[in-house]
Amino acid sequence: MQKVKLPLTVDPIRAAQKRSDYNGYIVSELLERLNESTQSVNSDVDVTVSFDVDSQKLIVVHGKASVTVTLECQRCNEPFNHHYEVEFHFSPIRNPEQADELPEAYEPIEIDENGEINLLELIEDELIVELPQVAMHDEADCKVSSDNLVFGEIPSADERPNPFAVLESLKHSNKE
Ligand SMILES: [Zn+2]
Repeated sequence: MQKVKLPLTVDPIRAAQKRSDYNGYIVSELLERLNESTQSVNSDVDVTVSFDVDSQKLIVVHGKASVTVTLECQRCNEPFNHHYEVEFHFSPIRNPEQADELPEAYEPIEIDENGEINLLELIEDELIVELPQVAMHDEADCKVSSDNLVFGEIPSADERPNPFAVLESLKHSNKE
């Protein structure tokens, strides 16, 4: 299947009735929020998405998206490439009350007044949520190995000035 630019908004009900499948991509420039959350977005986002009606007659939008971003390693401060993939299972709803009736496996998404969902926004949200909380190289690739990982010098017990000794010296200096 040839890759196509993913439609950014879709009528999920119509797409589900047609059992539509997309194998497409979103150009990286469109992902403004992901660009802001990372050093840069280095690839278009590869997306496969299927619209379906499940056995309970619920509309399901499921698929995968993958992208490569540049993050800054929190251990050595060098940038590195991070390729990752997210999976999603959405079910469009018309009002918030419907969300309670959904099986837990489905994430509720609201249909807008035109009967559409914003695929770009939904996929970008998933990609932002799945960014690592603390970005770090694999240990083998990191300039700072965990053996010589130093968070500032922690003086050992006998190097630390004894607080009472400090008080003593203060007393003495007052007398003089
Ligand atoms: Zn590193």
